[in-house]
Amino acid sequence: MDARSPREPTGRDTTPGPGAPLRGHTPGGARPAAPGPGSGSGSGSAEQDPAAGDTTTGAPATEDTAARAGRPGRDAAPAGASEPVPEPAPDPAPDPVRDRWREPMRLALSEAVRAPRTGDVPVGAVVLGPDGAVLGRGRNEREAVGDPTAHAEVLALREAARARGEWRLTGCTLVVTLEPCTMCAGAAVLARVDRIVIGAADAKAGAAGSLWDVVRDRRLNHRPEVIHGVLAEECAAPLTRFFRSGRRPGPRT
Ligand SMILES: [Zn+2]
Repeated sequence: MDARSPREPTGRDTTPGPGAPLRGHTPGGARPAAPGPGSGSGSGSAEQDPAAGDTTTGAPATEDTAARAGRPGRDAAPAGASEPVPEPAPDPAPDPVRDRWREPMRLALSEAVRAPRTGDVPVGAVVLGPDGAVLGRGRNEREAVGDPTAHAEVLALREAARARGEWRLTGCTLVVTLEPCTMCAGAAVLARVDRIVIGAADAKAGAAGSLWDVVRDRRLNHRPEVIHGVLAEECAAPLTRFFRSGRRPGPRT
């Protein structure tokens, strides 16, 4: 994901209405999308045609995501205090596919909400080892360090590789609050992670099923499992606040 991508995640347009079953998704995956115009769940059309049979499910997106559509870039905003970790939304319906990833996603969220301190778009990621241990963490630091590749996923993957002592992250899971961009999706494939768990979908730049699907292209030898829609609304909330607060991309001064 990457919110470091030029635009913020946006609601899927092709998404069914709130509560509507998501086509082609695993049972129980459909979650009510946030109300509002343009709101859509992550069940975008793109991910409905996964190259590999995955558990992909659209991530519910909020209307704000749609509102952010077209924004030129996740640029810096004046530094500010980090935002509080959003309260998890109640979800009474058991979801065997996603429930186990909620806690790791909350860790990623705790990273995401720290990003605005440096004017970075709130996206966070963690890499879990095969046993579930956290091997790496990352949040957007593009503005903080002036590095266009300092996306949460890349930083988390690097830290995990250092922890493991090798670049191969076989058996690991990348958990990220926003659908990876092409760079990060590619990095995850190159790292040989087994799985990518995604919070909010990014209809404008997502490369794990939304705009592209570079992680499940059948031409690739390694295709990670992809699980969309884990705490999607909670993951989208900090992004919404960030862009609505006026900390929007704009001409650098
Ligand atoms: Zn990225």
